[in-house]
Amino acid sequence: MTLNRRTFIGTGAAFAATLSAPMVMGQARSRVVVVGGGAGGATAARYIAMDSDGAIDVTLIEPSRTYYTCWFSNLYLGGVRTFDSLGHTYGGLAANGINVVHDYASGVDRDAKTVTLAGGGTIPYDRLILSPGIDFKEGSVPGWDVTAQNAMPHAYKGGSQTQLLKAQLEAMPEGGRFIMVAPPNPYRCPPGPYERVSMVANYFKENNPTAKILIVDPKEKFSKQALFEEGWQKHYSGMIQRIGPDFGGANVSVNPAEMTVDVDGVVEKGDVVNVIPAQMAGKIVHSAGLNDGDWAPVNAEDLSSKMDENIHILGDSAAQGDMPKSGFSANSQAKACAMAVRAALTDSRAFPPKFSNTCWSLIHAGEQPDGVKVGANYEATEEKIASTGGFVSQTGEDATTRVDTYRESLAWYDAITSDMFG
Ligand code: FAD
Repeated sequence: MTLNRRTFIGTGAAFAATLSAPMVMGQARSRVVVVGGGAGGATAARYIAMDSDGAIDVTLIEPSRTYYTCWFSNLYLGGVRTFDSLGHTYGGLAANGINVVHDYASGVDRDAKTVTLAGGGTIPYDRLILSPGIDFKEGSVPGWDVTAQNAMPHAYKGGSQTQLLKAQLEAMPEGGRFIMVAPPNPYRCPPGPYERVSMVANYFKENNPTAKILIVDPKEKFSKQALFEEGWQKHYSGMIQRIGPDFGGANVSVNPAEMTVDVDGVVEKGDVVNVIPAQMAGKIVHSAGLNDGDWAPVNAEDLSSKMDENIHILGDSAAQGDMPKSGFSANSQAKACAMAVRAALTDSRAFPPKFSNTCWSLIHAGEQPDGVKVGANYEATEEKIASTGGFVSQTGEDATTRVDTYRESLAWYDAITSDMFG
């Protein structure tokens, strides 16, 4: 072959590209596949892509084109936030070099190391990260299943269910009754149902002041109970009643056609009934055989599955130890996992992970928002992610502290969503 100037420049450019690329020619980039573009999955995908300098090929599989946060969805019910303000898209992740596939992962072949898509196609992985959130346990509230979710919404996954519950609250007759069937432990966002009650009450106080709220609860105690009960007494006196397990709260069935809740043989009629069933790890975790009972056991250090070292499980689905199932926790776990995966695939260093969580709740809005919080720091031990100490708002705090606490939560919302989506 005669080298002319054009071929010489072309060859030289290719040669230079080979030298400067982060991987050696002929050696494929390591492949990480992430299932679920929520708090855990979006964060993990973003951190691996961002910190691996092109050495890792990251694919994110998520069916929804817009992720609506569950956090602050109660504030939308309370009339404090718009629905649109909860929505986030995946364009920023795609711009970061992540291959965003809007599809549903229907199966994992752990021997072949592939993920199958519902829409057709198979994606190979070197490491797989699963962060599919929760699914509901069938039969946990007799009379309720997914076909009843339009009559009795759960509103415990983000998006259309939250909008439906809001529309039902707005259509409620004057002086009507809202009933919540609260979930048993463990479930996503321990204070979530009680913040929801607070925000529904906030909405009623403004729009339907003679309406009533009944909580039917299988649990003896719940997160931030003293703070919520103090706040309900202060802001919504006489509006909220709770039936705990001592009075039949654990023996409940529903009739969506009649809009009734049977509490230990006593039939309660509701105008709006919010059923939050018992929960388990997302279905893909079960179909991949990575669960032990309802949840997926993981190693604390890197959130790797105790059943498959090439798979990591984050967020609500993981049985990791002391961290509550929250978006903050999932985001924190995702960063530890991303560091470990990057280290394993590119020979970079991993440091001992530190985890943290804070759950804020808004009890009352208005001129002086009444916000409270609970949180803790955690470290990885041989056995689990273990708490190293926590904090919680105090009853009787002054109004300024509560306003400041609410403001912190607003800053956190912006910080976590930009940490997830760029
Ligand atoms: P998710 O964020 O739910 O993400 C899972 C994603 O996986 C979803 O987008 C889903 O579409 C996708 N997916 C599922 N299966 C598949 C599949 N097979 N293939 C592809 N994709 C799949 N947390 C806080 O930190 N602070 C709060 O104030 C707070 N408030 C809350 C209030 C309410 C009312 C609720 C319900 C929750 C609240 N949470 C809060 C909890 C928080 O929403 C969850 O803990 C968090 O979203 C868990 O993250 P995740 O990644 O495990 O799951």
